[in-house]
Amino acid sequence: MKIFIATKNAKKLKELKRILEPMGFEVLCEKDLDKPFLDAVEDGTTFEENALIKAKSGLAQTGFISVADDSGICVDYLGGAPGIYSARYSGGSDQDNNNKLLKELENVPMEKRTAYYVAAIACVFPDGREFTVRGECHGHIAFSEQKGEGGFGYDPLFISEIGPFSQVTDEQKDAVSHRGRAILKFKEELKKYLEV
Ligand code: IMP
Repeated sequence: MKIFIATKNAKKLKELKRILEPMGFEVLCEKDLDKPFLDAVEDGTTFEENALIKAKSGLAQTGFISVADDSGICVDYLGGAPGIYSARYSGGSDQDNNNKLLKELENVPMEKRTAYYVAAIACVFPDGREFTVRGECHGHIAFSEQKGEGGFGYDPLFISEIGPFSQVTDEQKDAVSHRGRAILKFKEELKKYLEV
């Protein structure tokens, strides 16, 4: 059975492939299409809505079962910001996003710097069925960027239960991360849909 992954992110594609291929799926992505894949307008108000918008756009453009994800970081002191706007928080680079976040949290004490990453994965089927799953990873925002080459995006600022995300291996991060947790749930949920 063919399944389409609606993402341009090579890392996300690799992670999902690792799960879906052993389940017997032929995993397709943008490069397997004979026409350009058009990005959907992510105008949802939740991670789940945005993941669904992207997955539905994948289904509309390919006709195959389609999967997409949406993720970001929510900071409690900022009322959940940057949330769904994490990628475009500062309008600039990852470094600019981190600088903006540190500035917003200037002089905020450690106990109020709690934050959590969210990853939502959506799956839509040609017969109209659909589901979403969500994974979260809780921690806090450091007072400055932590050393380390690991991770990406906000990871230099995020202290998880196993330490700064910039200082753990990919495998250690996958075991506790929002995306790792969402992917596990996704696999379980997908199995149920395939049984019917
Ligand atoms: P998207 O899901 O590709 O839209 O990415 C959302 C944004 O959230 C990314 O650009 C990152 O800034 C941030 N983000 C999501 N997951 C992670 C993570 O695991 N580490 C660091 N930043 C993340």
